[in-house]
Amino acid sequence: PEQVAAALLQALTPPFQISGHELTIRASIGISLFPDPAADYTNLLQQADSAMYAAKQSGRHRIVRYNRQIGQALQEKSQITSDLKGAMARREISLHYQPEFDRANQHLVRFEALARWNHPLLGNIPPTKFISAAEESGLITELGKYLLELACVDAVNWQQKTGHSIPVAVNISFLQLRTDGFVEMVLDTLKRTGLPAASLELEMTESVMLGEFEHCREVLTSLRAFGVKLALDDFGTGYSSLCYLPELPFDRLKIDRSFLQKANQDRSGETLIEAVISIAHRLNLSVVVKGIETSRELEFICSLGADQVQGYFLGRPGPDPCSVIAKHSSAVQPSTRTGHKDKTSQYQPHGLHVAKT
Ligand code: C2E
Ligand code: MG
Repeated sequence: PEQVAAALLQALTPPFQISGHELTIRASIGISLFPDPAADYTNLLQQADSAMYAAKQSGRHRIVRYNRQIGQALQEKSQITSDLKGAMARREISLHYQPEFDRANQHLVRFEALARWNHPLLGNIPPTKFISAAEESGLITELGKYLLELACVDAVNWQQKTGHSIPVAVNISFLQLRTDGFVEMVLDTLKRTGLPAASLELEMTESVMLGEFEHCREVLTSLRAFGVKLALDDFGTGYSSLCYLPELPFDRLKIDRSFLQKANQDRSGETLIEAVISIAHRLNLSVVVKGIETSRELEFICSLGADQVQGYFLGRPGPDPCSVIAKHSSAVQPSTRTGHKDKTSQYQPHGLHVAKT
């Protein structure tokens, strides 16, 4: 079967002339066999389909034969999907909060809410897995609403307990943004939980901008008008188009760790970060660099003029934001802090403090 599939791919490789246009097709092929491993016709189609998705995921224009690993991944995914609804009801899905800091005055400026699912059988499932399962199954609207509500309730709680109005940033799937009534759902959640709009920030990736640009712009513009802040997450890792940036009401860009890694390897990575920061500033956007793991990376990013910073070096995601606020609100002078052990850094992450309200 691989030979037949290879001949099919080969036949599809040359460009097609259609209505005067030259079109190129990329195909991904999945193979499964009857009677082994597929026991019946339905099974055969399911297996071939998942092998085809594996071919797509591994770079497209490929042939993949169904195997046990693909089967296990498929089974896990369908279990995740079928358990997701009950998991919300049983409160198995919760949020952890990762702090973000201002580069110049070192204030704690917000917490990013990151979803966690402790599955009774599968253990901790990474959010990338269950968020994509929710997106594919259509459950993302319900899950997104559940997580937004949880984040708003938690934020009201830490604001009341500590007296510091630290905002919360919630990740939003691009599919949620396209759902009818999204703006109303956000406003209703704010009203019911009592969180001020100014304390809510929504983060979304560039995939939001793919298709339905006008609709997304309208949704974002009305959220912004109500005082909700907006961040473009993972800027530069997807289908970045600089053209849309000035047309959308974002407040900040978040730059992914992959830029840092590239900057660690060669000079072009550094140039790229500098360029993104400079463009963002010209468009009145602030820049958060995330994924900072060492004091060296922190110093480097600060020297390039990033506005805010986030990463394991400064604080891991955790379930108890109040203790993070308490830790950073201590009025210790920077010069007297003995925070972290790396003597090469002048930066004192343990001395970062909380923005006054
Ligand atoms: P993200 O929004 O880019 O979140 C940052 C991810 O990087 C988090 O992974 C965080 O734990 C991790 N991270 C933070 N600091 C460091 C660091 O210094 N080094 C490294 N290597 N990683 C760091 P996590 O929690 O596994 O989340 C992964 C992704 O899942 C998120 O990426 C976001 O896209 C999605 N996600 C998480 N929670 C939610 C949610 O509530 N709703 C939606 N729609 N998506 C979510
Ligand atoms: Mg994020």
